[in-house]
Formats: sequence, structure tokens, C-alpha cells
Amino acid sequence: EPALSIRGLTKVYGNGFQALKGIDLDVQQGDFYALLGPNGAGKSTTLGVVCSLVQKTAGKVKIFGIDIDEDFARAKYHLGVVPQEFNFNQFENVLDIVLAQAGYYGMPRSEALPRAESLLRDLSLWDKRNGSARMLSGGMKRRLMIARALMHRPKLLILDEPTAGVDIELRRSMWDYMRRINRDEGTTIILTTHYLEEAESLCRHIGIINLGEIVRDTSVRELLAEL
Ligand code: ADP
Ligand code: ADP
Repeated sequence: EPALSIRGLTKVYGNGFQALKGIDLDVQQGDFYALLGPNGAGKSTTLGVVCSLVQKTAGKVKIFGIDIDEDFARAKYHLGVVPQEFNFNQFENVLDIVLAQAGYYGMPRSEALPRAESLLRDLSLWDKRNGSARMLSGGMKRRLMIARALMHRPKLLILDEPTAGVDIELRRSMWDYMRRINRDEGTTIILTTHYLEEAESLCRHIGIINLGEIVRDTSVRELLAEL
């Protein structure tokens, strides 16, 4: 079964605006998938529905075969999410922010601490672990959210514009890191981006979304062959 399967996904916001017009999408296990499109296309809305942050108007969403309407609590265990906006308490300590995640997933502390430490090392946040998150640069905060999202070893990692506003050097190191967890740990990754370059260099499949519709769903190889 696919890591993510979406059928007929529609979203009409409270003001009557139709942000999604019946989207179908499958992302296979182990894939690295980019949802590519201009601002306002419906990328965040789509991810918001998958993460159960946005209530859908119609359609079906399954995560590893689990219908999110039937059992989001169970689907959630497979899911790690890195939202676009920083949503941690800036006054909290970096290590505690990552560890708190373990609590939500019922991870024992004996397992949580080494996991948190290894993530903070891998994401170059080790030196900052005992300080307040407020002291981190934008790129470090972004990496902190990635560390937190990976804490419970999700099989599907979803990132909303992970490298927006991140300088080119850091962007490359984040790309390397995402490639590594996709390749070495088999984590399925879905990210949204409006950079074609990012989608091309990182991903195997690309869904192009515009005005709430998927206008193209193809492999990067095929897309490049056409250019
Ligand atoms: P829903 O229909 O899902 O309940 P709402 O229409 O009530 O969503 O809006 C939720 C929030 O999003 C509100 O705080 C609203 O101000 C904000 N919002 C409204 N329009 C937009 C927009 N075009 N882009 C982003 N956020 C918006
Ligand atoms: P993207 O992530 O591709 O930039 P979004 O999913 O954020 O696009 O937004 C898709 C469309 O829905 C945009 O036109 C946006 O203004 C609108 N929108 C987003 N959130 C809301 C909201 N809460 N209420 C009304 N319209 C919204």
C-alpha cells in the first residue's frame, strides 16, 4: 500500500474560497516526493489536511492504509511533520523541546534521551542543546523542528517549505540530511516547495499543483527528459 493516498480531496474555506478541487495523489513507500507549485496553489492546505490541522470538505486520505477519518490517532504514529511556521515555545530549552515529543508518543525516557541526542548531533544543534530556542538562528530553528518531527521514528516525514528563507549553504546541508534519512532509513519524504531546482535535485517524483488541482504527476527523470 502507498505511504499516502489521497482521493477526491476538496477544501472550501469558511469564506467560500475553494482551495482544493478534488485532488488525487499517491506517494509510494520509500519515495521522495515534491509537491511543487506557486504561492496559493494549495500545497499547505493539502498537507494541513493530511496532518489533520485543516478540516477537509470532501475526499479520502489514507496514511499507510489507515483512513485519517477513522483512526487519526494511529495514523499519527507513522507521521512526522515539519510545519512552515515555528510552533515551539521559544523560551524552552532545545533538548527539552525535542524530548517533549517523546512524551506524546509514549517513548520511554531511556530510549528518548539517546535518540534526541543523536538527532541534535546529526542536525548540528549539539552545542545549542542546553540553551533556549530563542537564541537559535532561523536555520537552526528549522533544524530543531526536523529533529522534533523525527523523534518517534515516523515512516513518513512531511515538510512544508523546509528551506524557505534558508541560505544556500544551509539549504544544501539540509538536502543532504533529507537524502540520507530517505536512503538509509527508508523514510518516505514529502515536501512542498516552489523551487523547481529543489524538487529536481532531491526528489524522485513531483506533483505539480496549481489553483487547487494537480496538473502533473510524474517522475523527475521524465520531467527532465522533456526539458
Ligand atoms: P476554516 O474554514 O477551515 O474554518 P477559516 O476560513 O475559518 O477556516 O479561517 C481560518 C483562519 O485562517 C482564520 O484565522 C482566517 O483569518 C485565516 N485566513 C483567512 N483567509 C486566509 C488566507 N487567504 N490565507 C491564509 N489564512 C487565511
Ligand atoms: P500554498 O501552500 O500553495 O501557498 P495554500 O494552501 O496556503 O497555498 O493556500 C491555497 C489558497 O487558499 C490560497 O488562495 C489561500 O489564500 C487560500 N487560503 C488558505 N488558507 C485560507 C483560509 N484559512 N481561509 C481562506 N482562504 C485560505
